[in-house]
Amino acid sequence: MGNTLNTEIIVAISTPVAVGGIGMIRLSGNGCSIVADKVFKSVSGKKISDCKGYTGIFGRIYDSEGEIDEAVVFRYIAPKSYTGEDVVEICCHGGIYLVKRALRACISAGARPAEPGEFTKRAFLNGKMSLTQAESVMNLISAQGEYSAKSALSAKDGAVYKRIHNILEDMLSVSAALAAWIDYPDEDIEQVQDDNLTCSLEKIVNVLKNIVKEYDNGKVFREGVDTVIIGRPNVGKSTLMNLMTGTQKSIVTQIPGTTRDIVEEKVQLGDIILNVADTAGIRETDDPVEQMGVQLAKAKMDKSYLVIAVFDASEQLSSHDIDIIQKLKDRPAVAVINKSDLDIKADTKYIRDNFKYVAEISAHNGTGIDEFISQITKILEINNTDCSAGILFNERQRQCAEQALKSMQQALQATISGETLDAVNVCIDEAIDSLLVLTGEKATDAVVEQVFEKFCVGK
Ligand code: GDP
Repeated sequence: MGNTLNTEIIVAISTPVAVGGIGMIRLSGNGCSIVADKVFKSVSGKKISDCKGYTGIFGRIYDSEGEIDEAVVFRYIAPKSYTGEDVVEICCHGGIYLVKRALRACISAGARPAEPGEFTKRAFLNGKMSLTQAESVMNLISAQGEYSAKSALSAKDGAVYKRIHNILEDMLSVSAALAAWIDYPDEDIEQVQDDNLTCSLEKIVNVLKNIVKEYDNGKVFREGVDTVIIGRPNVGKSTLMNLMTGTQKSIVTQIPGTTRDIVEEKVQLGDIILNVADTAGIRETDDPVEQMGVQLAKAKMDKSYLVIAVFDASEQLSSHDIDIIQKLKDRPAVAVINKSDLDIKADTKYIRDNFKYVAEISAHNGTGIDEFISQITKILEINNTDCSAGILFNERQRQCAEQALKSMQQALQATISGETLDAVNVCIDEAIDSLLVLTGEKATDAVVEQVFEKFCVGK
């Protein structure tokens, strides 16, 4: 058995507690195969604790009432397992009753229920993965699109850890040179040149700035791009919203100004997640209720990143349409020429001349939706994002990087204003500490607790 930190044997259902083909119960902790032997009898008569690592055997699981189900059981021996401890995985049929009963049998046999994320926490504590890798497991599970999944997978492979360690190496070498000069000024050590120092510090500051910026950019892809649908009443905004969500959330009627409240919805279009707000038509009105809707729409538009501007192809462009077109200059926006199933009366050339991204669609029958998605993909440049570059993926990591950036900026400032090398080095050391908290190498117990309490049970 490996040299692991925890001895308690934990158990949890690791598959969703729902009806499914297979349900898996995972045990971890040294000696867990002996607990498993109390609930499992193989057909061949062989005990799990006599099996080699990475093998599986077929048999039946039992509790005090009798047989529960057939099962295949896999054994992993420390340290070659997910947690770095001995692990047993019992796979039976995925019925909710069966899996829960098998779990209770393991608890009666001596295991205790695992806390949320406890398997991954043990993997971290046993040195199987860094804190950023452990966090990526959670992101991988909750990934809703290709971007999130790819970046979580690259983080799982250690991309964030490696990237942070590259900067750490640069910081450590500057810090070591400074420390040597401070400690042994009289010895034959090459003097630290102010210009060289400034240059090295500037380089590190820029790398850290980039890391924080990339996180902010990536966030919109993971959590959804704030998007607003605008257009004068009756052009088909709600119909488009309903087409995107596949539901009847917005009320669709032929009376202009029906959509007075803002309907918001998370929409997945291919790889992209949009937080879309369908607004009341932006137009001047005397109706007080509608005026409120218009105000809300304007505020929403200011706060959103992406604008979907809808125009009615079957009518000539109105002054309100022209107004919208003018307002959207220099904003990330896609023009939707809707109702293309009807006779086209609108000046579509004028729209195309004023928007870089245009899609001609019929929200009514769904034609042109692929073109619409491809235009949005282009605006967001999602295909150009390198997901494998080790992009940070949660607020905790961002805060650590931001803190490191601030300390390095102070170090740079201290150098420029001619403060002592000691003062500069204190700032660099603070920055190094922040990055070590990011990777988990210097994270306090409280930080580690916070990371894992967000996990689901069984992972
Ligand atoms: P909104 O006020 O901009 O939200 O417009 P609605 O979505 O309520 O649509 C107004 C009217 O236009 C409704 O009667 C829709 O059925 C109709 N409509 C919307 N999109 C299309 C389309 O692509 N083709 C046709 N023919 N009618 C549409």
